[in-house]
Amino acid sequence: MKHAMIDDLLQKRGLKRTKLRIALLNHFLSAKHALSYLEIKGALGENVDKSTLYRNLTTFEEAGIIHRIDHSGVAKYAFGKGQNDGHHHAHFVCDQCETVYCVEKTGATTINVPKGFKTKVVQMIIRGTCSYC
Ligand SMILES: [Zn+2]
Ligand SMILES: [Zn+2]
Repeated sequence: MKHAMIDDLLQKRGLKRTKLRIALLNHFLSAKHALSYLEIKGALGENVDKSTLYRNLTTFEEAGIIHRIDHSGVAKYAFGKGQNDGHHHAHFVCDQCETVYCVEKTGATTINVPKGFKTKVVQMIIRGTCSYC
């Protein structure tokens, strides 16, 4: 089931099926929170080439398969479209364990920016303590 989904994801974006990409997507699909580069590397094993891994993360990001979250100090990656792609969700950052969770946003948030200001991206961050801490 999962494999069919991964094949489909890659195929639809014209991305070649490689062992690393399949392993990466498998990991993203089962992750409950956003993953840092080190967590991803750790999960894939030591013999993964650093630049290959970065390149694939960028490819996935550009293809809209994953999104990068920058507001915890360390860049993290999570499955799905990001806030910049019109998919509006918020991020919960735990102050204790620094884990970043993608959370569903319900309803519209209205923010009044001063006259003449142009909004490019609205990123919503919630800080607090997660249920594991
Ligand atoms: Zn926590
Ligand atoms: Zn997210």
